[in-house]
Amino acid sequence: MAGEFSERKRRLIEHLKDSGYLKTPRIIKAFQEVRRELFVPKDMKQHAYADEPLPIGGGQTISACHMVAIMTELLEPRKGDKVLEVGAGSGYQAAILSRLVKKVYTVELVPELAEKAAKALKKAGCTNVETKVGDGSKGWKEHAPFDRIIVTCASPDIPQPLTDQLKEGGIMAIPVGGSWQQELIIGRKKKGKLLKQRHGGCVFVPLRH
Ligand code: SAH
Repeated sequence: MAGEFSERKRRLIEHLKDSGYLKTPRIIKAFQEVRRELFVPKDMKQHAYADEPLPIGGGQTISACHMVAIMTELLEPRKGDKVLEVGAGSGYQAAILSRLVKKVYTVELVPELAEKAAKALKKAGCTNVETKVGDGSKGWKEHAPFDRIIVTCASPDIPQPLTDQLKEGGIMAIPVGGSWQQELIIGRKKKGKLLKQRHGGCVFVPLRH
């Protein structure tokens, strides 16, 4: 079974590289190292390396691999970074980031999902990820400021506490828009303000309160 997964993973990573989604060698290495099958429900394991969103329960989804690749590349993660994720979901995105930065703090609104994500992260050996249940749009004040912030649910606007909790010079990736269609926004904090760049359409489950 492990062999079967590794061949599927190899093909998926080739596809992500060929399509230009994965570019940076250390990010490619993180994709090679993290076992995505640990983060999908049992009955979905066969699809763990399909490049599509997968249901993880409670109407929520684990993002398609190319979206994880795009967001991770745009976030420009560095070894010493402290990262906040809003929307732990399955924990997969946090696991990828955990290989690339010093520490990941991830907030999940749904307690059952937070619990599952924490378990999967432990199984995957990600010891530098802390998970908590809560409304991530408020950030995580105790650990602020963050070098990077990644929001993996769609928000109608950029929550002010997240901008406040981003370091000067820091980068935020966030899908902004309505329930069905959003635009991926990359914000860089300069002189206390977020300078925004648009990075194309995307579809995420909505941020709830
Ligand atoms: N990053 C995830 C995908 C997340 S799907 C992964 O790699 O699997 C979006 C998640 O955001 C869902 O689990 C949803 O419950 C959660 N969510 C929605 N609103 C939220 C909020 N205000 N704070 C934290 N999490 C939230």
